[in-house]
Amino acid sequence: MKTHCPYCALQCGMHVSASGAITPRDDVPANAGGQLCLKGWTAGELLRTPDRLTRPLVRTPDGLRPASWETALDHVAGEIRRIQAAHGPDGMAVFGGGGLTNEKAYQLGKFARVVLRTSQIDYNGRFCMSSAAAACNRAFGVDRGLPFPITDIAQARTIMLAGGNPAETMPPFVRHLENARMRGGTLIVIDPRETPTAQLADLHLQVTPGTDLALALGMLHVAVADGHVDSGYVAARTTGFDDVVTSANSYWPERVERITGVPAYQIRAAVGLLARRPAMILTARGAEQHAKGTDTVTAFINLALALGLPGRPGSGFGCVTGQGNGQGGREHGQKADQLPGYRKIDDPAAREHVARVWGVRPDDLPGPGPSAYELLDSLGTGPRGLLIFGSNPVVSAPHAARITDRLRRLELLVVSDFVLSETAELATVVLPTTQWAEETGTMTNLEGRVLLRRRAVDPPPGARTDLRILADLSVRLGVTLPSQPREVFAELGRASAGGLADYSGITYERIDAETGVFWGGGPRMFLDRFPTPDGRARLIPVRHRGPAEEADDDYPLYLITGRLLAHYQSGAQTRRAPTLAAAAPEPFVEIHPSLAERLAVTPGAPLRVTSRRGSAVAPARISPAIRADTVFMPFHWACVNLLTNPALDPVSRMPEFKVCAVRVEPGT
Ligand code: SF4
Repeated sequence: MKTHCPYCALQCGMHVSASGAITPRDDVPANAGGQLCLKGWTAGELLRTPDRLTRPLVRTPDGLRPASWETALDHVAGEIRRIQAAHGPDGMAVFGGGGLTNEKAYQLGKFARVVLRTSQIDYNGRFCMSSAAAACNRAFGVDRGLPFPITDIAQARTIMLAGGNPAETMPPFVRHLENARMRGGTLIVIDPRETPTAQLADLHLQVTPGTDLALALGMLHVAVADGHVDSGYVAARTTGFDDVVTSANSYWPERVERITGVPAYQIRAAVGLLARRPAMILTARGAEQHAKGTDTVTAFINLALALGLPGRPGSGFGCVTGQGNGQGGREHGQKADQLPGYRKIDDPAAREHVARVWGVRPDDLPGPGPSAYELLDSLGTGPRGLLIFGSNPVVSAPHAARITDRLRRLELLVVSDFVLSETAELATVVLPTTQWAEETGTMTNLEGRVLLRRRAVDPPPGARTDLRILADLSVRLGVTLPSQPREVFAELGRASAGGLADYSGITYERIDAETGVFWGGGPRMFLDRFPTPDGRARLIPVRHRGPAEEADDDYPLYLITGRLLAHYQSGAQTRRAPTLAAAAPEPFVEIHPSLAERLAVTPGAPLRVTSRRGSAVAPARISPAIRADTVFMPFHWACVNLLTNPALDPVSRMPEFKVCAVRVEPGT
């Protein structure tokens, strides 16, 4: 059966046999001619995981115990009624995920607003793409990760990637970079680590953690000073250029070298290479997951606009989305501030349109709610009950011990999952759900291409789809919701019609016939105009500021986090795939040899890493690939997010996952 990978935003196409055997498809452009990474090749192991849940679990004084679906759902519905009678609609909250299909993301938003009538809904994509989305929306008037087809990358003469490591996170993406290099293209990578991707680069800018914004400002300064600005493009297609030039005046390369640690000659060289158009600037989580992530992405967009890149073939600015449905997950209304079609929830016209589709009055729809971290942090004193679909915040939320404490305070915690994740272990009710190849639904990949993930194998008896679970719960609460994906997708099309992300012309049949359908009018956006009121892109002045926590005497090192080749997100899936678990069985702390010498530790020795929020122990991995002032830990285990800083970006509400101050010492 033709379907797509359960993991990242590339959504590689694959065939899955009835027994779960995987073979790659060569008709999906993202796969770059039939590529899969280790995660994709071993995805069948997920379908055979021995600790699969097949019966609901309800907490008793003796712990979680099996129960029938009737008992579990009746209990959940009764608890929702009790909590909302005592605390009002906002006594209940919903937390979704960027890996959910479009149908589920849509239905979850509708369930929250129509069935629960709560404003308390957000999702883990807030921890992933929110800064990039906010920056793209304010500059371009729309946010589609790559506003061009992925195959355009091969045409670029220079590609600059800020804070991404696709050689590990999505290896087939590297084939697109290599295609460009085979045509004479140049790759620039900005990263505090010499990652496998940075090792492929022609120029690696090994930036100090938390200073990408200053680096982008320095590049704009050089572009202006060295005469690389595309004045005709700027005059015809943008607004705000003069203010942005003024904001970059003081970021001359030698000053930026002092802030970022990147030599001034490298900054000049990078800009010279980008000026060899067509060129692309891409950002990923390393640049985005900061308390200034929106401004950092904005600074890179300003640079791209000054160079005249967006809206030209083989050229542009894009964000490399991470989660499997990171793009679609943010379009259909599971975000605190949005309704389907990427509409703003406080826009009266948007409320009226969506309310009409949902058969309710606009005034009955709740307003915007808190962002993901703020919602999780308020549990127990704000919402008393929470339903989680497709997320594992005990591992993935910043300041994780605090969030775990908040989850423990809940009167009702319902987790829908196919295994007992770290978060499900805390639940009062666990609902066993189907997983990727056992159900049908659409995903929107990092290009904005809507794809159909088909059911290829039978789910185990006892598991239900999330759509069915939502429908079964809703009917107990007095509302009827459809449970079939095709029906939900058709309704999603009506609800999104006329919005920024308009799916109204997309059908399962078209997706089949066209191997995916782009929303936004086609594969390449911005060719003639940007979807802003005046059709021009907006340059927005931004200023550098340091990380929320600078290294100091007590916490003298920077901690950065990231992904490994063998694992995906919180690891709830990949840690259960035997091949992947064997390839990367445990977390580690990557330190520079000079730090290892100072600490007198050898490879594999336990290291204790401590931040202002907590402490974690993992074996040392000694490597010259990391800066001497920085340590790296992967985030696939319940470990590193005990340390990370929940300081929030003022625009996107993204936590500062990617840099905090720590100390490191030998110990257990
Ligand atoms: Fe492709 Fe990503 Fe799946 Fe790897 S994890 S096979 S890159 S979709």
